[in-house]
Amino acid sequence: MKKDFLKKPLKAVLFDMDGVLFDSMPYHANAWHEVMKMHGMHLPKEEAYMHEGRTGRETINLICKRQKGREATAVEMESIYESKCELFNANPPAPEMPGANDLLNALKQAGIEIVLVTGSGQHSLFDRLEVHYPGIFAKDKMVTAYDVVKGKPNPEPYLKGLEKAGVSADEAIVVENAPLGVEAAHAANIFTVAVNTGPLDPQVLKDSGANIVFPSVNQLVEAWTK
Ligand code: CA
Repeated sequence: MKKDFLKKPLKAVLFDMDGVLFDSMPYHANAWHEVMKMHGMHLPKEEAYMHEGRTGRETINLICKRQKGREATAVEMESIYESKCELFNANPPAPEMPGANDLLNALKQAGIEIVLVTGSGQHSLFDRLEVHYPGIFAKDKMVTAYDVVKGKPNPEPYLKGLEKAGVSADEAIVVENAPLGVEAAHAANIFTVAVNTGPLDPQVLKDSGANIVFPSVNQLVEAWTK
């Protein structure tokens, strides 16, 4: 743990969404695997978790370079990403993450500011949060794809999150599930709690800069309530 962890009282918790609040990552991993197969490329499902947080274009370009030895064209990036979204959207809505409601409510009761920091740009995002986590999130306390120039692993989304919470880095913690998200939070100098809700080796999250790793959100709630 960082020695300077929370010199000041905890004022805000910055939450990632996919893989933390919603168990949506299996759908994303499947969609990436399938869409790459359709285009003659191979992206193992588990590897998709390593790219979580990257923009769709960047992911496509990276795999294309590796598999075809060249950059993806703009047309390829557009059409592959479109197909990936179609495959993802064919799934039923992702279930809420077990333990997330308990955690959010415990934090709210403790008077801690809750901020959402996601790379997602779905227009229905707030309504969906309200259905599963009523009264927890506020529209002016959300950082989405529309608020940032550089996505994770750049620290910008989490720096914007601090700004929206009106707190400094040492008054906040981040809850993340993905290596690139952890990297972003770590680069923003915020104490980072990783919840390993996917198939990754926990060491991957530690290596990305997580200060502590829990195997599930439920186990984080347990630790918090203690
Ligand atoms: Ca995530």
